[in-house]
Amino acid sequence: MLSQFNQFLLNFSLLITSLLFAFLPLRHTERISADSPIRTRLVVGLIAGLIGGLLVLNSITYDGAKIDLRLVALVTAYYYGGWVSGGITMTAIIGARFLVTPPGVYEGLILATLICLALLVTASIYRRFAAQTFKDYLVLLGVGIGYSLPALYLLTDTFMRFLEMAFVYIIFNLFGGYVTYRFLQELRKHFQFVQTQQELALTDGLTNLANRRRLDETLAHYDQHGYAFSVLIVDIDFFKSVNDTYGHDGGDVVLRQLSHLLQHCSPDEALVGRYGGEEFVVLLPDMPLKEAVRLGETIRLACADQHFVFSTYPAFHVTLSIGAASSDQGETSFEVVQKADQSLYQAKQTGRNKVVGYSEE
Ligand code: GH3
Ligand code: MG
Ligand code: MG
Repeated sequence: MLSQFNQFLLNFSLLITSLLFAFLPLRHTERISADSPIRTRLVVGLIAGLIGGLLVLNSITYDGAKIDLRLVALVTAYYYGGWVSGGITMTAIIGARFLVTPPGVYEGLILATLICLALLVTASIYRRFAAQTFKDYLVLLGVGIGYSLPALYLLTDTFMRFLEMAFVYIIFNLFGGYVTYRFLQELRKHFQFVQTQQELALTDGLTNLANRRRLDETLAHYDQHGYAFSVLIVDIDFFKSVNDTYGHDGGDVVLRQLSHLLQHCSPDEALVGRYGGEEFVVLLPDMPLKEAVRLGETIRLACADQHFVFSTYPAFHVTLSIGAASSDQGETSFEVVQKADQSLYQAKQTGRNKVVGYSEE
């Protein structure tokens, strides 16, 4: 019994280790279900099939039976990817079982095939009445164990040996299934957490726009690929006096309302970000300067028309100064932003509430 436990532990370690590696390609995928894209379900089937096959190749031979945690791989594949994933995993498991079958001794192989098929059919029927919960996972595992026991009985020599094996088999499959389920849930939570943190690291906390880091990364990406783009630098006029009149909270409300306006006015492919303070940047891939200046003008007018509302104060207006520039051949994105900054400075110097497009003279 002790050596069986030991071998099962090895089988179990193989399951968990391969799950960890196998999960990595799917870490950015949304929660996987039978409605996921076919490609995802195929990948799940292939991964679980590979794991199931490995488990079979490392199974414990006991009389005519081969015992391992393949059932956990099959149930997991079905639970996440429905019959497509389950079908691929089943094929891999039967293939591996065939490889370890000595010539002429086919009862085990035939029984294994029948169990897999019966489980897949039952699971397909059960799925109509089930959601994707731990209870459903347990039911599938329980059905699989239930289908395997008669085969175990037929393949073991005596009733006592069957009881002994059935005990170990049930305990390990329940344990293996539970740990697998929890492990996958925890991995998903962990990767979701990492993704959220990555997203937050690139987002401005006040306006939810892209922050300076994301803007800089995007500009570096443009440089790397030599993309043509235009940029608008948008700065609120006399924002200090907004803060002085309405308080810092009032200023924050203006920043938030302006970010909505900027996003609303900008085309889908634009990246709108907050560069810092009351200064915003709009990156416009593939847009010529003329068009960028026109967009700047639209933004300027929309802002001048907007009624900003804060607390019990009467609605008020703010104006914008905007500098625009476009990339020229052989220019770095840093130089383009500097040109836009110079144009902004010019707009401020020549009366504010205006858009200035960069020109050499
Ligand atoms: P100009 O027309 O020349 O741009 O004048 P300005 O007053 O808008 O520019 P200035 O750079 O003198 O002042 C910017 C102000 O923006 C100063 C600072 O207190 C305020 N500010 C910066 N970040 C925030 C913020 O997150 N919230 C609020 N409410 N105010 C901010
Ligand atoms: Mg300002
Ligand atoms: Mg400023």
